[in-house]
Amino acid sequence: MSAAWDHVRDVLRAEFGDAAFKSWLAPIELESISGSKAVISAPTRFMRDWVARHYLDRILELFRDGDGDIKSVDLKVRGTARGATPAVDQAAPSADRAGPSALAPVRARPGAKAQAGARANHDDVSAPLDPRFTFDNFIVGKSNEFAYAAARRVAEAPNGPFNPLFLYGGVGLGKTHLMHAIAWHIRKADPTRRVIYLSAEKFMYQFIRALRFQDTMAFKEQYRSVDVLMIDDVQFISGRQTTQEEFFHTFNALVDQNRQVIISADKSPSDLEGMEERLRSRLGWGLVADIHQTDYELRLSILQSKAEKLGSAVPSKVLEFLAHKITANVRELEGALNRVVAHATLVGRDISLEATQDVLHDLLRANDRRVTIEEIQKRVAEHFNVRVADMHSARRARAVARPRQVAMYLAKQLTSRSLPEIGRKFGGRDHTTVMHAVRKIEELRAGDSSFSEDVDLLRRMLES
Ligand code: ADP
Ligand code: MG
Repeated sequence: MSAAWDHVRDVLRAEFGDAAFKSWLAPIELESISGSKAVISAPTRFMRDWVARHYLDRILELFRDGDGDIKSVDLKVRGTARGATPAVDQAAPSADRAGPSALAPVRARPGAKAQAGARANHDDVSAPLDPRFTFDNFIVGKSNEFAYAAARRVAEAPNGPFNPLFLYGGVGLGKTHLMHAIAWHIRKADPTRRVIYLSAEKFMYQFIRALRFQDTMAFKEQYRSVDVLMIDDVQFISGRQTTQEEFFHTFNALVDQNRQVIISADKSPSDLEGMEERLRSRLGWGLVADIHQTDYELRLSILQSKAEKLGSAVPSKVLEFLAHKITANVRELEGALNRVVAHATLVGRDISLEATQDVLHDLLRANDRRVTIEEIQKRVAEHFNVRVADMHSARRARAVARPRQVAMYLAKQLTSRSLPEIGRKFGGRDHTTVMHAVRKIEELRAGDSSFSEDVDLLRRMLES
């Protein structure tokens, strides 16, 4: 009887990958096949709804591949006969949260889209959570330890003292990851809690739609009955007066009722431009935690952990190289590693430093360009023991003019700035002065190998 089911599982694992399979599909069990109907079960209602929404149509197709007689698949919550109250659902506080048909199995039939989501009302507004974004998968370093600790505390004791929790930091540094991790943690500890996670953009979109359909009451209700509300990238509602207003009221209502609110943004509350003052200050009332740029050690640990998860032998030389070179953010770092691994798999060769440089040449160039002229000036001034101000000053003494020329030369080499732009950054000098400096340094390098090594050293320092 289970040959068809084995087939379904094998294909699902191949199609969706190990991580998604483990999280969502492995816990699904076959209950029975009778006549044209297969019945499968999930351990919790939440899981049933998720699987119904994302995988059930595919499961039916695969069943039919394996056993042509099967015409429909029912997905139920384990241990429930239709209508009976299952153990997992007894914890549900009241029927109004679950809805009357929450326990009925979800059926996939050919041509009929699974309707499960409509029954788990938090799923209507909540965006899906990425199964990889858990606390376990989050690597902690100096730059994010505070935000991590704050997120963990809130996950373990929502409705606690840190309300709202405001997470902020640059792009790709793990804000969304931490929010999903909180949501996973809370939902796992208590599946009956309504946790809503969504982007500020989606919040705005839904609000505007509610306005258009004159359905703002329902909109308000939806949000005001949640236990935990998470809004990601709140900078996107800056400048939107009516949405901000609504957000503000929702926010106040929730915090006043001691419901947990978690917000993320790319800036601190006080730096959010286009936000109303009272909203800005309200956002900062709870705990504000920032995520800083990563350092080398953290980047390396993240790479090691990801390489291990990919199950791929990446030489430590390559990981170190990537940690040095891809400094912008973790998303880019992950992307780079994935590309290197994918390439090696496709061409069937081991991963080497050369291949890595080759595969990533565009990305590496873009990262190199991120060295700023200010950094160059600072490093060069330190190196030659002159003041940074001398990079801009009119002094022509050799002791400051030479380092200044070196800095101009490196600015030309390491950034994508034009000669006039570089000139402007060096106390408003003319582009011909920069050109002259570049030629001069090239000349000196050709004739003086120790000077040349000195410049190379600076260059390597700036590039790393
Ligand atoms: P943000 O929301 O701040 O722009 P994300 O949370 O989307 O950034 O993170 C971008 C990617 O980097 C995600 O794939 C995330 O899993 C990963 N990531 C970020 N920080 C870490 C970390 N400390 N450990 C592991 N993965 C991380
Ligand atoms: Mg994000």
